[in-house]
Amino acid sequence: MSADTNPVPANELNANPPVDGAELIRFEKVTKRFGDNTVLDELDFRVDSGKHVTLIGPSGSGKTTILRLLMTLAKPDAGTITVAGDRLFPAGEKEVREVRKKIGMVFQQFNLFPNMSVLRNVTEAPVTVLGMSKDEAETRARELLDLVGLADKCDERPSRLSGGQQQRVAIARALAMRPQVLLLDEVTSALDPELVAGVLDVLRDIAHTTDITMLCVTHEMNFARDISDQVLMFDSGHVIESGPPEKIFSDPEQDRTREFLSAVL
Ligand code: ADP
Repeated sequence: MSADTNPVPANELNANPPVDGAELIRFEKVTKRFGDNTVLDELDFRVDSGKHVTLIGPSGSGKTTILRLLMTLAKPDAGTITVAGDRLFPAGEKEVREVRKKIGMVFQQFNLFPNMSVLRNVTEAPVTVLGMSKDEAETRARELLDLVGLADKCDERPSRLSGGQQQRVAIARALAMRPQVLLLDEVTSALDPELVAGVLDVLRDIAHTTDITMLCVTHEMNFARDISDQVLMFDSGHVIESGPPEKIFSDPEQDRTREFLSAVL
């Protein structure tokens, strides 16, 4: 599973390889409320193509909500969201379906299909959503399962795997759609501590050997430091500070960032 043995060439993980410096995700004045609780308040931010961006900040500051808006699991109350130049919000159902194909997400809970084999978990969406042939989807799924170190588990049911292995299947499943951006929502927080490193190693490998754009919410600060081009510190629905990891983790500008980091590091 090192860069040398990576079975999937970097430029094949992503259907539309990034153009340097191009904007992939843009939020403009995005507001999201749950009842009286304004979780995001006219939020502006962008993620450039090919970059790895990590959102850090206290619980309840709105990080997961950003990923859920991108997955259209929730709708903003105002503002615009674009992905690769196409509107995700506001947009019609057909446009949303097209934009959604560009986005893969790995959740805290692995959400695998329990009654399908590991292989079928990875082939299902490429066959049913992208119309890929079963043979092509299986060949690709085997390559991706090899990439995440699970080539020998193709025929198992998810329930026979450890949580860490299930999460690695979920990563392969997200990559099978050849998304332009991979969203990672605290993907190790439901795992037993001894299983965390294996999942983070796979993600580090993907981050370092491919050009896929990543937007990541994590409490794993060492991982964030390793993979990020940019770290955004969130507080109460606002980006209060952003910069390269070496700046944010070693010499933050804001007291709030310093307090947060001293509590979690
Ligand atoms: P974070 O990921 O930074 O911990 P979240 O985005 O999960 O924060 O949550 C931000 C705020 O939105 C919290 O106050 C949370 O309680 C609230 N929230 C999130 N989802 C819902 C929901 N479906 N219904 C009501 N409130 C929600």
